[in-house]
Amino acid sequence: MPTSTTVADNLQQTREAISTLETQHNREHGSVQLLAVSKRKPTSLIREAAASGQRLFGENYADEGALKIQELSDLSLEWHFIGHVQSNKTRLISKHYDWVQSIERRKIAERLAAHRPVELPPLNICLQVNVDGETTKSGCPPEQLPELATFVSTQERLILRGIMAIPAPRESASAQRDVFSQLHNLFSELKLQHPQLDTLSIGMSGDMPAAIAEGATMVRIGTAIFGKRDS
Ligand SMILES: *Cc1c(COP(=O)(O)O)cnc(C)c1O
Repeated sequence: MPTSTTVADNLQQTREAISTLETQHNREHGSVQLLAVSKRKPTSLIREAAASGQRLFGENYADEGALKIQELSDLSLEWHFIGHVQSNKTRLISKHYDWVQSIERRKIAERLAAHRPVELPPLNICLQVNVDGETTKSGCPPEQLPELATFVSTQERLILRGIMAIPAPRESASAQRDVFSQLHNLFSELKLQHPQLDTLSIGMSGDMPAAIAEGATMVRIGTAIFGKRDS
């Protein structure tokens, strides 16, 4: 991506791509929300995105994100935690974020609920699902999803919103769609028990079209908006 492209241009292109895909797959206009993933990017770029109308942001590192959230508290933004939740960070995360999309076990959900400040609304939760089996350790195995969902939904300080996944890249576009379709099925099954669920968080810069084709309601886009991250 040329360095001359701005966050505003990238955002506009991403929004147009989402809108085109919605039309192409008979999805209602506006049914796919855009989460701008700002990990390892400075608050100056987040301000640029916010100035172009972006409201939802995602962060992966609890401390880094909490600092940015405080620095940007003059803006009305919604913050999603999408990284691995360490148990010694649950207090910090519960205090600063609006959503946690990466819940994979009961103990972490319990701690987030216990630490959610009383003056804040309940914390929105997505369960992270691992559909890749042993190739990645992140996420709850699909067969344990119903039990975890039931647990989260009984917590007064949490609201279960849906599921999130980061499937490993597939060889072909059709294989990519298959895995997203599998996730959509898991989401639909879970909705039978929990009709309030409204969030299927799948799709990143590299696989957004396949995710929207298979029913994503939220895509998490970093690189295509903010450029490559230094590693
Ligand atoms: C980094 C990250 C993203 C964004 O990835 P890009 O490929 O930069 O769009 C989305 N979701 C999660 C969980 C991430 O860690």
